[in-house]
Amino acid sequence: MNTKVWKVDKYVDNLENNPQVVDAAHFLQENEVVALPTETVYGLGGNAKSDVAVEKIFAAKGRPSDNPLIIHIADKHQLSAFVAEVPKNAERLMERFWPGPLTIIFKKRDGVLSEKATAGLESVAVRMPDHPVALALLKKCQLPIAAPSANSSGKPSPTNAQHVLDDLNGKIAGVLDGGSTGVGVESTVLDCTEEIPVILRPGGVTKEQLENVIGEVHLDAALIDEASKPKAPGMKYQHYAPNAPLYLVNGSTSFLQGLIEEKQNAGLRVGVLATEESVEDYQADVSVACGRRDELESVATKLYETLRAFNQEKVDVIFSETFSNTGVGHAIMNRLQKAAGNKMINE
Ligand code: AMP
Ligand code: MG
Repeated sequence: MNTKVWKVDKYVDNLENNPQVVDAAHFLQENEVVALPTETVYGLGGNAKSDVAVEKIFAAKGRPSDNPLIIHIADKHQLSAFVAEVPKNAERLMERFWPGPLTIIFKKRDGVLSEKATAGLESVAVRMPDHPVALALLKKCQLPIAAPSANSSGKPSPTNAQHVLDDLNGKIAGVLDGGSTGVGVESTVLDCTEEIPVILRPGGVTKEQLENVIGEVHLDAALIDEASKPKAPGMKYQHYAPNAPLYLVNGSTSFLQGLIEEKQNAGLRVGVLATEESVEDYQADVSVACGRRDELESVATKLYETLRAFNQEKVDVIFSETFSNTGVGHAIMNRLQKAAGNKMINE
């Protein structure tokens, strides 16, 4: 399949009638799949009502079929077609965080969405992305769009159109290239079917921000204790992994430098994921500053791009600094732990 690339300037007016967006919307209506920029990462969109379209999403990504997709909408009025009940606290969260990086899980109304999109569950995950191109496309096609991240399953999520093509060129109808994404890590997934909502996946909206709006919020047990079974089916899979083994290092820069030298002495090409504050402290073969430690949002923005960069550099092993588990640091550490398959070295 020839994958089209539609370049589109997210700042122009009347995006809904931009010829690139109109063309992409047409493909969605024909049950083809197209990648689109959102404020978190690039998504791979398809008509959520169509088994055919949803099957194409799973096939292109190589995604396990038990892992349900997030449904994207442009207007809250779309919810009532496939959501059975909108609780009060969800209402307040939508008011505050939509459009934005918050996915809310609701009880599902049967018979509208493809069962494959929700992996047969009785609940459905929904969000409204905060990106002008995504919103224009959703409005134009007039469909609820199922969209997981537009990467091959298991790889780091794409934060620009080239990342999408690196993984999916020839496997999808097209990609709307709206430039680099901003937040860099995926949405927070919040289960609002429980009396006290539960974070199933940390992301762009922090626990602290949620609690400021609705009071107490719980964390899924699997986010606290590795041995627990995660409630979000996707959280049990290894994800975000670069090609080389990745180790997270809890310790000083000199301790981490010692690990680098040990591997170099064994003849390996070593990468280090550091921050702008510390990158000069290391003599690795490939040293990458992934944002600023005193501004964790910048680390989130660059995280997947950095993990992908190590693949280009063909390193044999990667060591990464660790981050505090607060604010967006929670999402960063969650993704790094998954990327590392939980390999952690303590000083
Ligand atoms: P991705 O599409 O890669 O951004 O991942 C979406 C995440 O949301 C995965 O971890 C899914 O398992 C999770 N998810 C989607 N729908 C549901 C649902 N109805 N209940 C629980 N988790 C869900
Ligand atoms: Mg993903």
